[in-house]
Order: sequence, then C-alpha cells, then structure tokens
Amino acid sequence: MWGRSIRIARLSGFDVKVDASWLLIASLVISSLATSYFPASLPDGQPMTHLAMAFIGLAGFFASILLHELAHAIIARGQGVRNSGVTLFMFGGVAEMADQLPTPLTEVWIAVAGPVASLGLALLLWCGARLAATAGAFEPGAAVLSALSMLNLTLGLGNLIPAFPLDGGRVLRAILWMRSGDLVGATRCATRLSALFSALLILFGLFIIFAGDTAGGLWPVVIGLFLLSAARTSYRAVQQAAERDGRKVADLMSRDPCTARPDQSLSELVNQVFLDRGFTFAPVIEDGVVLGYVDTHMVLRIDRENWATTVVDDVIESIGNENAVSPDLPGRELFDRISRTGRRKFMVVVGTTLVGVVTLSDLVSYLNVAEDLQGLPA
Ligand SMILES: [Zn+2]
Repeated sequence: MWGRSIRIARLSGFDVKVDASWLLIASLVISSLATSYFPASLPDGQPMTHLAMAFIGLAGFFASILLHELAHAIIARGQGVRNSGVTLFMFGGVAEMADQLPTPLTEVWIAVAGPVASLGLALLLWCGARLAATAGAFEPGAAVLSALSMLNLTLGLGNLIPAFPLDGGRVLRAILWMRSGDLVGATRCATRLSALFSALLILFGLFIIFAGDTAGGLWPVVIGLFLLSAARTSYRAVQQAAERDGRKVADLMSRDPCTARPDQSLSELVNQVFLDRGFTFAPVIEDGVVLGYVDTHMVLRIDRENWATTVVDDVIESIGNENAVSPDLPGRELFDRISRTGRRKFMVVVGTTLVGVVTLSDLVSYLNVAEDLQGLPA
C-alpha cells in the first residue's frame, strides 16, 4: 500500500520522492480547506476562490512537509548519519536513513529536528497572517497564511505524538533503547504502543463519522491506518537487521567462566568467585560434568553465619532446559528467551560439557554496538 514512490527533485544532495499515499493526504487537505476552513474564514468568497486558495494552501503544505523532512535529514547528516533521501509520505514524511542510527541520543536529535522546524514555521506564518490581517492587506492571502500556520502546527504537534514511527515515537524508542541498550526490544515496545494509539485513533474517527461528520472523521481513520502499517514495517526492518546479523551464542558467550565445585563452601565461593573476581554467577562442575549453577541470589538466601558450613551442592540450581543453551542457538532466539523468561544468564553446554556462559550484557552489546548494525544491507 505504501512504497510506490516517485523521485521528483534533488535538494541539497537529497532525493525528494513522493509516495503514492501522498495523493490521499493531498485530497484530504484540499477538501478540508476548500469546503470548511476557507468558507469559515472568508464567508463572502466564491467556492471557486476557496478552491483556488486550497490549491495554493496545498502547495504551501507540500513545501512545509519538505522543510520538516529536510530538517531531519540535515541534522542526520550533521550527526554523521548518511541518508539517501526524503520521501513525502502520508501525514508528514519519512526521512530515509541509509544506515541504522548510531546512538539513541543521535536519534533524539534527528527526531526532534522536524517538529521544531514545523513549529517554528507555524509561528512565523502566524505572525505573517496577523501582520497581513492588521494591515488590512489582501484577505485571501492572510487566510492562506493562517491555514498554513495551522497545518504546520498540526504537523509539528501531530508528529510529536509518541506513536512509532512518528517523530515522538522515535524519541520514545530512543529513550527505551537508551535504558535497555536493546534496539529490537525498544522498537517492539514502541510499536505496540503505536498500535494501541492507532486503534484508538481509528475508533475515534469512526465515532466522528457515525456522529455525522464524514470529512472530519476520515482524518483520524486514515492516519490510524497509516500508523498501523508504518509501525509494523519499521519494526520488521529493525528485526530483520538484527536477524541478518546471524550471530550465534558461540560468538557472544564468554568462554572461560569462573566455575564452582559442589563440595565448595559458600564462604569460599563468595570470597574466591563472587568478591575476588566480580562474578555473580558460576556454573558448578564436577569431574568435567556440568551439574548446574549458583549465583549471588541463592547464596544470599542462606544466613551469613551458615556460609562456612553450607556447600554449593546444597543451594545449586540443577542444569535444565531453562538455564542452559546450545552454542548454536541464534543470538536472536536467545534474546527472545531472555525477554520471555526474564532470565539473564545461561550456561552454554554441549552434552554434559560446559563450553561457556552467555549473559544479557553479552547480548546487549551485540544489539547495541553501532558498528554491529552499520553496513548491513538495507
Ligand atoms: Zn518528522
């Protein structure tokens, strides 16, 4: 539905493309301006005048979206993110990024650039409209300026809605990404919120339509449908980038973990493994066979005065499917398992032999490090 785009111009090094869906937004803008906004602000005007003004307004709106997208693209280029072009999409545009964004903070700067440009332009246009109105100058001109000011305000504020992939949703994803260090998980979370928001928007639009205002209700429905499809597409793109990376647990794990013996006392374990070497987790090995693991939580469940007389074997969690993985497991599946179970540390085993341990932080660096995602085919 979205994706048939035509290149129409080249502006300061960016390809400007128009998506077919833009025709829909264009007709919505024309009909709203010609049948509702301009007749209200210029009641004496002829319908043909209103229609002509609506077309001028549409051209201005087109330029406004272009400015919004160029603001994203220019900041992105300033931050060193290569981008191939700007596509005018439904409701705002989508500044195409050639690569994944390098850091969450960069994404925030790029995302807010567009709304800042739109809101600034809205203010300028509003001042222009006020000036023209007080000077008693050409009335239709003042009406077009104030319509454009309103459209830019809508563009700026509408894009700040935290529904991914709108700009506000990108900021939200960047914040989630910053906190978890996990781009795929943050995108999934932002996508779910966006789906919820889209559904509410569609319901709201349908409500308005059933209340009798078809044109007014069409906007929220169309934007909601667009958001639903755009969010899904964006999530899939991020997920596929992570999948294509194709690394397995064997590439992510630590190969030389600190291990414990079943007959070791807890005080020895605490001093030699947890305190001395800074580990919080140790697989338990006897005669080369992995029996299970112990971690700081299990030890803390035992009163400190009993640490000398309690041995690892008394607190061990035995090895099982829930705490052990194969070195061949794709990193992506490990990630799913961590998000499903909340477990952060796994033993990596082949048969009964321990070959390493893999933790959430190993995986986080795998999903987070910019170089890992950069240079992937788009
Ligand atoms: Zn934007």
